[in-house]
Amino acid sequence: MRTTRLLVAAATATALAACSGGGSVDGSPGGSGVRDPYFPKAGNGGYDIGHYDLTLTYDPDGEHLTGTAAITARATQDLSAFNLDLKGLDVEEVTVEGRDARFNRAGQELTVRPADELDDGETFRVTVRYSGEPVTITDPDDSKEGWLPTADGAVGLGQPTGSMAWFPGSHHPFDKATYDLRVTVPKGLGAVSNGELTGEVTRGGRTTSTWHVAEPMSSHVVTVAVGEWQTDRSTTDDGVPVYTAVDPRQAGASREALGRIPEIMGWARDNFGPYPFSSTGAIVDRVEDAGYALETQNRPYFPGAPDTVLLVHELAHQWYGNSVSPKTWRDMWLNEGFATYAEWLWEEDEGGDTAQETFDALYDGTYYDDEDANDSIWAFPPAEPPDAEHISASPVYQRGAMVLHKIRQAVGDDAFLDLLRGWAAAHRHGNADTGDFTAYVEKSAPDEDFSGVWEDWLYGDGRPDRP
Ligand SMILES: [Zn+2]
Repeated sequence: MRTTRLLVAAATATALAACSGGGSVDGSPGGSGVRDPYFPKAGNGGYDIGHYDLTLTYDPDGEHLTGTAAITARATQDLSAFNLDLKGLDVEEVTVEGRDARFNRAGQELTVRPADELDDGETFRVTVRYSGEPVTITDPDDSKEGWLPTADGAVGLGQPTGSMAWFPGSHHPFDKATYDLRVTVPKGLGAVSNGELTGEVTRGGRTTSTWHVAEPMSSHVVTVAVGEWQTDRSTTDDGVPVYTAVDPRQAGASREALGRIPEIMGWARDNFGPYPFSSTGAIVDRVEDAGYALETQNRPYFPGAPDTVLLVHELAHQWYGNSVSPKTWRDMWLNEGFATYAEWLWEEDEGGDTAQETFDALYDGTYYDDEDANDSIWAFPPAEPPDAEHISASPVYQRGAMVLHKIRQAVGDDAFLDLLRGWAAAHRHGNADTGDFTAYVEKSAPDEDFSGVWEDWLYGDGRPDRP
């Protein structure tokens, strides 16, 4: 949940402004996006969502989803209309504060005009009933997200904008909220989501699972994974519940890595500070079910059994990406550079390559077997991906991690770990951008001059002259 509006609402929902005939109208329509530089229509202006209550029924045979989204939000201006993001699906009814609301749709924008205007500061509840076959979205970089049918069910994956394929909302990391999800699937299958499982009931040939997410969550890391699952519960040594759900075909291959979750969580806590959420775990689907792993909150998603290093990467994102979320999709290196550096730190602590050796191999162009892959990390500066197609390209990951290593070289190991922990604490459950980060580093180490690191490594084009 955001408490201040740092992004200015983009183009207004003019479609409905014209039909506000009769009566006095003081409010104006909320914005149709939050002016993200790469996804300008993602998220919405004029209100701030506090909580999503999602009731979903999914039938994998017909690929049919029926949903009710009850959203609690607070107006941040006088509102005559506001938008939600929703792609595909049929909307059957929208109510605001229990009264029928007019609505229309254009692209991914569902514009709602409440019967009564909403006042600035007013908390309101909007309910959307919808159904249909949810769509799979192809991103600018050709990866698939949104709703992905799988061999035995489906999975919802939302980076960067896919969650709008299965529930209406404000789909930008800037508007975080808490969630309750109630998901009904045919008996024999299960529905695994974020947060904690608070109930599981089978009746009438269907199983309903309820999940509660108490900490703020960006909609891009919400998931529901429907399928056959082997589930397991344990706890970390400091009492964080671990819940894993594994496709039975991946159970054997996953056992060793998933068994190390409590150990990885302890290691991560020592390096990154207190865990920001109230449960952890993993979801392991079949290899062909998705093209990538994702740091879905509490419980990262893996297509096929992860190795330990991948598990470290996705669990590190719980601190960097999910608790400290990017202000815009341009700030993606604050997610991926940190999660990649977590891999380097883990390997160093496990007796593998040191972070310095990994850095040197990347700089020297010997890290990958493939020459093009070695060259590709210099394609653009990590803080400035050229367009939406490149927010998940290798400079964001590897060169992002190299920026962190340059800071470590400057301040030393102890101060660097203090900085990693301090950054996670300073923006816990919030949002931050690159400018926030450089300011934080400079304030943490006032005697150091970081201007060369920023100019050459963070914002500079090409491979810096010196490592
Ligand atoms: Zn990542």
